[in-house]
Amino acid sequence: MGFFQSLGVGRIVFSSDTSEEQYREYGKGRITMDSCFPVKALAGHMGELLHKDINLLFVPMIYSLPSFLKGHVVDTLSCTRVMMSVENIKAGFLRERKEFEERGIAFVSPFVPFAEPELLPKYLWESLKEHIPGLTLEETARAVKEGFRALEDFERKMREKSLEIIRWCVKNNRPAILVLARPYHMDPGIGHDIDGEFQQYGFPVLWYNYLPLDDWLLEWLFSKEIRAGIIRSYFDISDVWTSSYSSNTNEIIWGAKFSARLPWITGVIRLSSYECGMDQPTFTPVQKIVESSGTLFFKFGELDETKPAGSVKIRVETIVYYLEKYSQDIIKKKLSRLGAVPSQLLV
Ligand code: SF4
Repeated sequence: MGFFQSLGVGRIVFSSDTSEEQYREYGKGRITMDSCFPVKALAGHMGELLHKDINLLFVPMIYSLPSFLKGHVVDTLSCTRVMMSVENIKAGFLRERKEFEERGIAFVSPFVPFAEPELLPKYLWESLKEHIPGLTLEETARAVKEGFRALEDFERKMREKSLEIIRWCVKNNRPAILVLARPYHMDPGIGHDIDGEFQQYGFPVLWYNYLPLDDWLLEWLFSKEIRAGIIRSYFDISDVWTSSYSSNTNEIIWGAKFSARLPWITGVIRLSSYECGMDQPTFTPVQKIVESSGTLFFKFGELDETKPAGSVKIRVETIVYYLEKYSQDIIKKKLSRLGAVPSQLLV
């Protein structure tokens, strides 16, 4: 949004949340490969947008993602399926007719290395210049800066909100749940709103990618291991994960470490989609990291377009039972391993 607004693009239209109907109506038959559920869902989103009043469809091929772990891990690449699926699905829309052309819509899918901001303006400019008359490389570079500023602002607000939730837990001696998933599981059609189900039972929900990163908090949680030479910094995951190439995966692993240390996170909910090859190798390490601290761990795997609402509700009720039964003990045990609670948490 920040990027396009800075370029002065008039109206920005988004597709709606993922749903079975959306895929059935707009995406079916558009995918030319066997795919995981989120990639399948992308076809529905692209198809839906083709039916809106737009003249440019922007679907970036995201190669790398910015991460707060950059510099502490090997790299911050996105899943290759995320990047490649754009061209694949586009081919599905061109198989029989030139659908974009017929509707007067330009399809723009630039290569986007988010984690290398110095390269971004060039790639974006090259893909947009023929569609935005007079667009210069300098303007694009300024817009990229604006985009990053907007992103940082949004993330700062989300992390402040997470800290506020943790302070509420400390003050009221209440447990919270941490969700470990991919960012798109926040879309209720992909994550099936499982996090929302827990909120209805009075459990605040934190997401791994917006945890607070304040020095005083991380010092409290990780300094013993830094002094013992187990890790080199708060964000080092090499003690538990050696192949740190993927941005989201690295953050999921770090989120698991955070949850294992923060006393008020007493339960972790892992979400994963049908056919996700990226998540597969992480299941055991993540579960071990979380459970080794006594924190409860629950997984909802193979999520796809079918929403077995009844069975989700029953599982949530069971998990809530365990959370209510064991949370206070978990908080006490985890607190006993740390030094005095920082004053900044006691406000
Ligand atoms: S991370 Fe998994 S679910 Fe997401 S696009 Fe990659 S393979 Fe598919």
